[in-house]
Amino acid sequence: MDEWPQILRGSLRNPDEIAKRFGLNADEIRKVARVFKTQITPYYASLIKQKGDPIYRQVVPDPAELRKDGGVSDPLSEDQDSPVPSIVHRYPDRLLFLVSHSCASYCRFCTRKRKVGDPSKIHPRYIEDGLEYIRSHPEVRDVIISGGDPLMLSDARLEYVLSALRSIPHIEILRIGTRVPCFLPQRVTAKLAAMLKKYHPLYVNVHFNHPDEITPEAARALNLLADVGIPLGNQTVLLKGVNDDPMVMKRLLQKLLYVRVRPYYIYQADYVHGTEHLRTTVEKGLEVMDALRGWTSGLAVPHYVIDAPGGGGKIPLIPAYLQSISDEQVVLRNYAGETFVYPQVRGKKKDKKEKQPFITPCYGLTNAPPIP
Ligand SMILES: *Cc1c(COP(=O)(O)O)cnc(C)c1O
Ligand code: SF4
Repeated sequence: MDEWPQILRGSLRNPDEIAKRFGLNADEIRKVARVFKTQITPYYASLIKQKGDPIYRQVVPDPAELRKDGGVSDPLSEDQDSPVPSIVHRYPDRLLFLVSHSCASYCRFCTRKRKVGDPSKIHPRYIEDGLEYIRSHPEVRDVIISGGDPLMLSDARLEYVLSALRSIPHIEILRIGTRVPCFLPQRVTAKLAAMLKKYHPLYVNVHFNHPDEITPEAARALNLLADVGIPLGNQTVLLKGVNDDPMVMKRLLQKLLYVRVRPYYIYQADYVHGTEHLRTTVEKGLEVMDALRGWTSGLAVPHYVIDAPGGGGKIPLIPAYLQSISDEQVVLRNYAGETFVYPQVRGKKKDKKEKQPFITPCYGLTNAPPIP
């Protein structure tokens, strides 16, 4: 018998209980919990060392969530790119397939706050429509199974989805996006890993935001997945008071590599309503990136992206290493702030019209943050 269903049942959900445990105003917590689903697994709650720490800030409801802060409910305009309720199809060759409304715990900063935890928005009955959409779109070669959290489905239900997708000839790769290894690592069993192994090439992207989340339990779960040949990636959200410190972020990314997870993205927090207290500046994100490249293993350095409001997709941001570029030379700054010159190919004048669009996005838009 698996132990995880029982652990999950013991989650903190009741606002009064949460208020009592953390010494908060029960009325306020009740109001917040009515607006956005609240749940904290006992395992994740046990990682909280004190009120307001980086683990606490991610999952404990905060009255600040009710402030009118200008944020929007669907910051990435996903609903606009949703041909059927379970699909978000924005890019040419890949799409998101939302198969589960629930999560093991609920992140207060979730982009899909409007949907997660609500079975009327993400429902098993939409899975068939999603499969049908994917079958009838041969340009789709990569399916990102998401939600909610797909690992909240039973092994049998998840296997149904994976095998249905695998039977579609034009689907090359499958990906699962999950925060279960962070919130409820006990859910990752040898049985689950053995089932997933049948559906290769399968990638799993996990979601860790702080070095304290890489516990022996999480390492065990990640190890099981890596051992069945699943390439593991990580997506982190840059959050105020959680990981908006270059040294904290560097430690997180190094610890991830140590448990065989390759950092994939750092997201600038989306413009979601009720999350202003968790957002930080883009300058801070660039400062974090500048403190990573060159200072630690290149494998530990993810892409820093803003998922563009309005549905523009992920846009990478890079500190200003390229200082100037001409037909003769490129002036560069290295990680330690020293300047170097790279000579261009000689005797071949480049077409000015063609050159322009390449240059504009490279520099001039970002200020080089101070070297730490
Ligand atoms: C993030 C995302 C993807 C996947 O993007 P990659 O850069 O390939 O990881 C696909 N569709 C949507 C709607 C997304 O938000
Ligand atoms: S686990 Fe993912 S989908 Fe679930 S609440 Fe957190 S960010 Fe949202």
